[in-house]
Amino acid sequence: MTEGSDECSKGACSTAAKETSRRLNALTKTEIPENKLKKEEFRPRIRWPDLTVQVFIHVGCLYGLYLCLVSARLYTTLFAFLTIYLSGFGITAGAHRLWSHRAYKAKWPLKILLLILFTITGQRHVYVWALDHRVHHKYSETDADPHNAKRGFLFSHVGWLVLTPHPDVVEKRKAVDMSDLEADPLIMWHKKLYPPLFFLFVIFLPVFTPVYFWNETIWNSFWVNFNARFCITLNIAFFVNSVAHMWGQKPYDRYISPVENLAVSLAALGEGWHNYHHVFPWDYRTGELGNSYNPSTTFIDFFAKIGWAYDLKFASNSMIARRAKKSGDGSHIWGYGDADIEKEDLEELNKMEDFN
Ligand SMILES: [Zn+2]
Ligand SMILES: [Zn+2]
Repeated sequence: MTEGSDECSKGACSTAAKETSRRLNALTKTEIPENKLKKEEFRPRIRWPDLTVQVFIHVGCLYGLYLCLVSARLYTTLFAFLTIYLSGFGITAGAHRLWSHRAYKAKWPLKILLLILFTITGQRHVYVWALDHRVHHKYSETDADPHNAKRGFLFSHVGWLVLTPHPDVVEKRKAVDMSDLEADPLIMWHKKLYPPLFFLFVIFLPVFTPVYFWNETIWNSFWVNFNARFCITLNIAFFVNSVAHMWGQKPYDRYISPVENLAVSLAALGEGWHNYHHVFPWDYRTGELGNSYNPSTTFIDFFAKIGWAYDLKFASNSMIARRAKKSGDGSHIWGYGDADIEKEDLEELNKMEDFN
C-alpha cells in the first residue's frame, strides 16, 4: 500500500492504480481508526434474559437451602450434595483437563461417563465451554479473555455471563483452534442435542430421583435438586475464574494474576492451584503436588490404572523448578539448592550435613 502510494506520487502508475491507492488511503484514514475507537469506547450492555435467569437461579437457590432446613427430607439434601460432588468431575476431569487442555487421553467408556457427569452440571455444552476456556488461557486477562479478572470480581465471577462480550472476545473465539473437538463425533453430538440433554440430566433425573425413591415432594425436589444444586455447582466453577485469579500465592509466575488458593481447591475438586495451571495448562494434575487435595487428579489416576485414561502429560520436577526460579514470587521452594531457602535455615542445614 505504502509502495503503491509512493509510485503514484512519482506519476508511475495508471489511473486505476491511483484510484486503488486513493481508496486504500481512505480506508487507512477512516475505517481502521473507527474500529479502534469502537473497541476503546466499548460499553457492555446487559443481556436481560441472561440476567433474569441468573437472578432466578440465585434467589431460587436461597429458597432451596431454606427448604433443606425446614421441609426437605435429609436424603434429598444429601443427594443434592452428592450430585454436586460427583458431577464436578465432569467439569474438572472432563470439559477442563480432557477436552479443553488435552492433558490426557480417554477411552470411550470414560468419555461417556465424563460427558454424562458434565451434562448434569448444566454448564452449557462441552464445545462452547472448551472454546471459552481456551480463549481464557490464550488471551488471559486481556480484553479478549471472556471472564477477564482485571474487570473486577463480579465481572469475572458471573457478570461476563449477563453482559455483551467485548469485541475482542468475539474475534478471538473465531481464531482459536477447535479442530480436535470438531472432529470428535461425541462432542459434536453433545452440542447438537444439548437442549434435550439439559432437560433430562439437569432437571428431570435430579428432580425425579428423590420423588421416585423416597417420596420427596416435587416442589421440594425442584428447588433443592435442580435449583440450589445447579446454583452451587455454578458458583464453585465461578470461583476458579474470580477468586483463583485474585487472592493467593504465585510460586510459578508472579507476573500473571492466577494464584494458588486452597479454599478454591477444596471446593472445586483440586482446581484452585491456578498459578501452576496457567503456567502448565497441559499438565493433567493442574497442580504441582498432584494428589495433595486434588481429587480430580486421583480420579484420573484411578482410570489410568484400569486403562481407561492414558497418555497423561505432566511437567517434570526440573521444568517446575526452572520456572519457579525464573518467575516465581519466592513462595515456591522446590528443594535443596533453591535460592529462596532462608539463609539461616541453609546455614543450619549445612552444619547438620557436616555432622553426617
Ligand atoms: Zn484462569
Ligand atoms: Zn484451564
